[in-house]
Amino acid sequence: MTNRVTAKIKRSMKAVAVVGLAGIAAFFAARPFVHLVDDTDNLLEGPPPVFMDAEAELSARARPLTTDSELEDRASRPVETQVRVGSGDTLGDVLARAGVEGIEATQAIDALRGVFNPRALKAGQKVKVTFEKSPHGFGHGGFQMVSLNADPIRVVGAQRDDKGGFGPIETMRQVSKQVAHNTGTIKSSLFESAQSAGVPIQIIMAMIKALSYDVDFQRDIQSGDEFTVVYEGFYDTKGKLVRHGEMLFASVNLSGTPIAMYRFDNGQGTVEYFNDKGESVKKALLKTPVDGAKISSGFGMRNHPILGYSKMHKGIDFAVPTGTPIQAAGDGTIEIAGFNGSYGNYVRLRHGSGFGTAYAHMSRIAAGIGPGKRVSQGQIIGFVGSTGRSTGAHLHYEVLKGSDQINPLSVKMPTSIKLAGRDLDRFKAVKRDTDTLMAKIPPSTRLAANALGKSAALSN
Ligand SMILES: [Zn+2]
Repeated sequence: MTNRVTAKIKRSMKAVAVVGLAGIAAFFAARPFVHLVDDTDNLLEGPPPVFMDAEAELSARARPLTTDSELEDRASRPVETQVRVGSGDTLGDVLARAGVEGIEATQAIDALRGVFNPRALKAGQKVKVTFEKSPHGFGHGGFQMVSLNADPIRVVGAQRDDKGGFGPIETMRQVSKQVAHNTGTIKSSLFESAQSAGVPIQIIMAMIKALSYDVDFQRDIQSGDEFTVVYEGFYDTKGKLVRHGEMLFASVNLSGTPIAMYRFDNGQGTVEYFNDKGESVKKALLKTPVDGAKISSGFGMRNHPILGYSKMHKGIDFAVPTGTPIQAAGDGTIEIAGFNGSYGNYVRLRHGSGFGTAYAHMSRIAAGIGPGKRVSQGQIIGFVGSTGRSTGAHLHYEVLKGSDQINPLSVKMPTSIKLAGRDLDRFKAVKRDTDTLMAKIPPSTRLAANALGKSAALSN
């Protein structure tokens, strides 16, 4: 993003220097009309930096003047401009900035309300404003249409009608549901390696979340371990992902030990990931009580190795940056929450079956976390820091049995659900279909869901 922005600004400055104001005026006449449905530009892009205002966008696109005939050709087409929504902007502000007059803007916004709530406009979003071609060969004519992406698939807007007013428009982008298959080798972290393999962020997060019950992302994942993920996505006609779907399968091979999971919906409200034996991956305690995406083999503590459990060191450490949220490893009750000597800011939870967990050196304890309160698994209880006797940001994590610390790595948590009877039969069928699907789709490719025959039923 930063590089692109820098490049854009450089281009922008160059363009302004070369063509000056005349070039910017020519820009208005130069933009061809782009049919809405084909425009997938920046759909999945995050909010832009604050300084990327409409002016910068416009001048960045300015091009040197060329021939008269080209100018005439450009002048014969409608003029379209895109404006970024700034923080606190209303749609009225955006239209005013694009040069739409007040009364017309109000009419268009009223019409738009039929298909979209203008208050749902988000900072960073792009709004497309189209004007008629210029009667003079430069600048632009009357305001014709405003449109924006209501969501990745739905384009909404308001367009001038025959009676001189405005009517709502709504277009569904043409997308197809496809199943993608990615594999890769972990270098410094699962997150980075999956990202460079092209796996969408939301799918990576789902994968890390589902693996966090069984995998200690600090100690279990080694450089060279392999991962596989199969997921659904909605792709436009150009093959660009517009919306991610469900993760159907994920596996990691930890130094030769495979951990694999299949998505299964039992039709009675339980949608979870199960191993090949039909056991839910969910356990009473998470093995990694911080966001596994933040853990990489390249990030270590200064003067403090990443320690395993020992007589001297009664817990295990997760080296993650200051401020990383710490999650309750399991459902439970808060026993202690406060400053605790060499532990620094410290929280201890009590879970069922005599187990406890403790979290030390927090930069701060989360709001609302106090003794006697209930927490649920995955709830944020505090943030990683280096308070107490600590030489660098990390989470010191302990598992207790009664009041004694035990080695967290030795704790084997039972599964929360074990499928049986008809559920197990149905799961086995889903597993078989998923395996067939994976065999049909070569790694790093995807196939249309409706081209997968019987297997397509999986994703419905
Ligand atoms: Zn420690």
